[in-house]
Amino acid sequence: MPQSAEKVLDHSLLFREPEYKEMFAKKRADMENMPATEKVQETADWTKSWEYREKNFARESLSINPAKACQPLGAVFAAAGFEKTLSFVHGSQGCVAYYRSHLSRHFKEPCSAVSSSMTEDAAVFGGLNNMVEGLKNAYALYSPKMIAVSTTCMAEVIGDDLQSFIIGAKDKESVPQDFPVPYAHTPAFVGSHTTGYDNMLRGILEGFWANAEVTKNETINIVPGFDGFAVGNNRELKRILDLMGVEYTILSDVSDQFDTPSDGEFRMYDGGTTLEAAKNAVNAKATISLQQYCSTKTLQYAKSFDQETASFHYPMGVAATDEFLMKVSEITGKEIPEELRMERGRLVDAMADSQATLHGKTYAIYGDPDFVYAMARFVLEFGGEPRHCLATNGTKPWAKKMQALFDSSPFGAECKAYPGNDLWHMRSLLATEPTDFLIGNSHGKFLERDTGVPLIRLTFPIFDRHHHHRFPVWGYQGGLRVLVTLLDKAFDALDAAGLEPGGDISFDLTR
Ligand code: SF4
Repeated sequence: MPQSAEKVLDHSLLFREPEYKEMFAKKRADMENMPATEKVQETADWTKSWEYREKNFARESLSINPAKACQPLGAVFAAAGFEKTLSFVHGSQGCVAYYRSHLSRHFKEPCSAVSSSMTEDAAVFGGLNNMVEGLKNAYALYSPKMIAVSTTCMAEVIGDDLQSFIIGAKDKESVPQDFPVPYAHTPAFVGSHTTGYDNMLRGILEGFWANAEVTKNETINIVPGFDGFAVGNNRELKRILDLMGVEYTILSDVSDQFDTPSDGEFRMYDGGTTLEAAKNAVNAKATISLQQYCSTKTLQYAKSFDQETASFHYPMGVAATDEFLMKVSEITGKEIPEELRMERGRLVDAMADSQATLHGKTYAIYGDPDFVYAMARFVLEFGGEPRHCLATNGTKPWAKKMQALFDSSPFGAECKAYPGNDLWHMRSLLATEPTDFLIGNSHGKFLERDTGVPLIRLTFPIFDRHHHHRFPVWGYQGGLRVLVTLLDKAFDALDAAGLEPGGDISFDLTR
């Protein structure tokens, strides 16, 4: 074998060595029992036909590559945004390994979370003992200031009651009686990571706010929602609010937790909303969510404390940012400063400079409902057509809202929203009605290879490209970054066409 301690090859080179090529060929010939190549190709081609598309969309009892994750992943993300908070997931260990690896592969940072390691016996007799022992160990080993408990499928299927388990564990002195252990039931077989985010955030707030005596003040709470670009976006959000002179509390701020520096010190916990701030947030005059579909229950809860509430769909692009800033200004009475007006003008200028490149381009977009709405809205702003908009965790009311968005623009005439559909549906859409570009996450690279539609990675999870999340996509500055990302892809596509035979007619330098 060519691998040795002196010459360590990455897999991409290693598996091209003759020994591996031979091994793969042998495996294929001896073990895979594949039909003839022509037959495979014929079937693959048929799955790109209109006939197959109709069958595919008639599918009811099976999801293939859903563009969503399960509830507890969102709960772990929400909990990571609070000061020295450890996520404790009641259920099986493998699930928690998945949340940790998913988040750390995206953010390129360690993600800490523990599980109660339920196995067969706990599945039969209930997981109380696991909770008692697990909380005790987590508290002793990792010195958190708060432990946020959520659940996996297993605990939910057998019906473990978190509230009574946590009371029981405290009675057995796993953690001190006054130690904060908020919880949320996060059954993974309903909803998605956005529901889990909402449930956990509400659970954490309930832990602090229930029975609180309220003394109203002038601060506002901001709920960012589940967001793969949270590191860049939350920092941009804080810059904008500081420029406006607004007093605010971000409820779940993961920007430091998922972006710790390399300076010789391991930070298991970093940054986040302080527990004191989370407690005081009950006194705020308003709670604003930047992602409506991530925060329904949280906003309802805030409303029950007589807080004004407002929600947006991921403030990306010109009009979406305008709306957000105007609402903040209206609630707080603070002016939108000249600096932000200038940033707005620069974004509009950049869009105008590049309109010839992007105008009329068609897009397929998938992701969470708020992101898809925002992306489609921004695309329409510069004259693009978001033809296929798909959200596996989108609902019929979401699709109606998307349709209203399409109807508001002449470029939306041929656009359609697909709620509850998956990436195998998207494959049929791209095969039968191709678009110029596909906007989504790393999972879209297989669609790109299969259908030839170039992929632009702009939403969670992004594993196979690095550090995008460090730059904002919210606000006018963020809009500029999104615009440049789309333009780069458009120019790459033009250059690629220029490399084809006879294409040198447009392989130019001046654009
Ligand atoms: S869907 Fe259920 S089993 Fe799968 S990772 Fe999520 S909680 Fe675990």
